[in-house]
Amino acid sequence: MSLKLEYAVIGDPIHQSVSPYIHQQFAEQTGVCLSYLALRVVCKNKEDFKTRLEQLFLEGYSGLNVTLPYKIWAFEIVREQHGLSERARQAGAVNTLSFISAEKWLGDNTDGAGLVHHIKAYLQWPIKETNLLLLGAGGAARGVLPSLLAECPRSVDVVNRDVVKAQMLTEHFTQSGCVVRGLSQVDTKKQYDLIINATSASLEQKLPVTIEGLSAVDAYCYDMVYSKQGDSTVFLNWATQNGAKAVSDGLGMLVAQAAEAFYQWHHKMPDISQVLQNLKHRVFS
Ligand code: NDP
Repeated sequence: MSLKLEYAVIGDPIHQSVSPYIHQQFAEQTGVCLSYLALRVVCKNKEDFKTRLEQLFLEGYSGLNVTLPYKIWAFEIVREQHGLSERARQAGAVNTLSFISAEKWLGDNTDGAGLVHHIKAYLQWPIKETNLLLLGAGGAARGVLPSLLAECPRSVDVVNRDVVKAQMLTEHFTQSGCVVRGLSQVDTKKQYDLIINATSASLEQKLPVTIEGLSAVDAYCYDMVYSKQGDSTVFLNWATQNGAKAVSDGLGMLVAQAAEAFYQWHHKMPDISQVLQNLKHRVFS
């Protein structure tokens, strides 16, 4: 069996995914010849999911992006039998799989690198020596926290409704040389410089319930959620009305994490800016 340059994003639901568009754009930009599909994969348990991954490998896929709800199962399967990148190990979730051979798959997590790339290189916001507030302690927060800490913020407060999840997430990072706390509500006495909303509240048109008393004055405010209609999210509207220095939704993170996956597979780093513009003006408008 020969490996073809065939890739896919797998998840359920998947019809909304723009990953095929993004990877085709990257391929055109870098001169790589590939096909990239969005495949709906419905699995009741981890064993079913493992069997489906093995089938996709046998069908000739060279790599897969993994999205909701399978990132944790992908992590567990690869951890048990194959290899994990350090950032996937720290995140506890896999969003990029490379099929090197039947015996050797590599699981990676590019969410954190994508977020940091978008914030630092594209938006040119500071992370180093900031007081950072991360709202949420689900899979997305877990995926990005190691990459954010690697940028040496002064302090990080992870705030979650279910405080046990915030505390479990932060206890792994007590050695990082920055003050990292897990809280149930924001610290209203603290001036946060960078506020990242990693909750899913915006999907329900709600503000996170944990931000009571929070000030956005002079803070950079980022929402990982993005709107396909091109309008702002509830959280970013709140931030703008409350004096934020600048705001951004998570579309750039989506494109940048895809660029990191593309680099894993093809060893060519695409430019995210053109693709981001195309998505905003042609696909979502
Ligand atoms: P999870 O379901 O794992 O976690 C959801 C988180 O949101 C939990 O911390 C939950 O708190 C919190 N939450 C939900 N509703 C509220 C609310 N009303 N008030 C306060 N907290 C709330 O989801 P993920 O972590 O995987 O994803 C989070 C978001 O990030 C999603 O909307 C997703 O679209 C986005 N995302 C964007 C990416 C991008 O590339 N732009 C990449 C990955 C994710 P609790 O634990 O207490 O229930």
